[in-house]
Amino acid sequence: MRVVKDLEGLRTQVFKQSKHPKVGLIPTMGALHKGHQTLMDMARKENDLVVVSIFVNPTQFGPNEDFQRYPRSYESDLQLAAESGVDVIFAPTVEMVYPRNSTSIRVAEITDRWEGALRPGHFKGVCTVVAKLFHLVDPHRAYFGWKDIQQCLVIQRMVEDLNFPVELKFGETYRDPDGLAFSSRNIYLDSNERDKAPMIYRTLVRGKQALSENPFVQTVKNSAHTELVQGGFAIDYWDVVSLKTLEPVEFAGDSCAIIVAARLGNTRLIDNIRL
Ligand code: AMP
Repeated sequence: MRVVKDLEGLRTQVFKQSKHPKVGLIPTMGALHKGHQTLMDMARKENDLVVVSIFVNPTQFGPNEDFQRYPRSYESDLQLAAESGVDVIFAPTVEMVYPRNSTSIRVAEITDRWEGALRPGHFKGVCTVVAKLFHLVDPHRAYFGWKDIQQCLVIQRMVEDLNFPVELKFGETYRDPDGLAFSSRNIYLDSNERDKAPMIYRTLVRGKQALSENPFVQTVKNSAHTELVQGGFAIDYWDVVSLKTLEPVEFAGDSCAIIVAARLGNTRLIDNIRL
């Protein structure tokens, strides 16, 4: 008999021990690319069974967002997943995931700013679907990309606050050689916009360098804003934030990141760099 008095012990002794084999889950909305593949590779190394969910989740899109035109490429997704050694693709229908729409999860505070402020209801949709996927698939580990930095922190908060017995793993952002982060939405870019798009990452790299010399944020932020606006971007935000709270900081430090969201034509790009 075992007596456990702390949460970690409970998890180790009860949940983890009783679950075999080890299952890794990668939640996605499909249109799979090399960014997703890095998460699959991580999961393949660390688990016995790798599950990828493909579900374009309607509840995380606002009424004026791109749910209808979001890229869907099911057949090539299956091929890429098979090549990456994925064991199970879970591709439920909307009706199956949402037979009703009466219960949802709202994570407080860390959802107030940035994506949460600009896309009302977005994280409620994300958290609800991720919570459901955690219950349905019952993974030991779940994999998310740092590219969506706020999403990572929001899910981490949800997992901590609601005691999900899941270990979260975050994968680095996979980029084209010119710096543009891979994203399913990059196919919206026309060739002119595609040429301009890497400027986003350049402002992050330059911003990081400048902040290492002088941590005062406002000056660096101003020049990044100017550069992006002159480059034809409409900026939603470009700011330096604490990695714990996502609150903006006046002086950059170790546990900070630069986060950016900017629109080029009809395409919204987000990216970040840790300092
Ligand atoms: P999505 O299908 O866009 O919802 O993304 C599914 C997962 O892949 C999320 O956890 C994303 O953060 C992650 N992801 C998307 N793009 C990249 C990338 N370029 N590098 C690494 N992970 C990514």
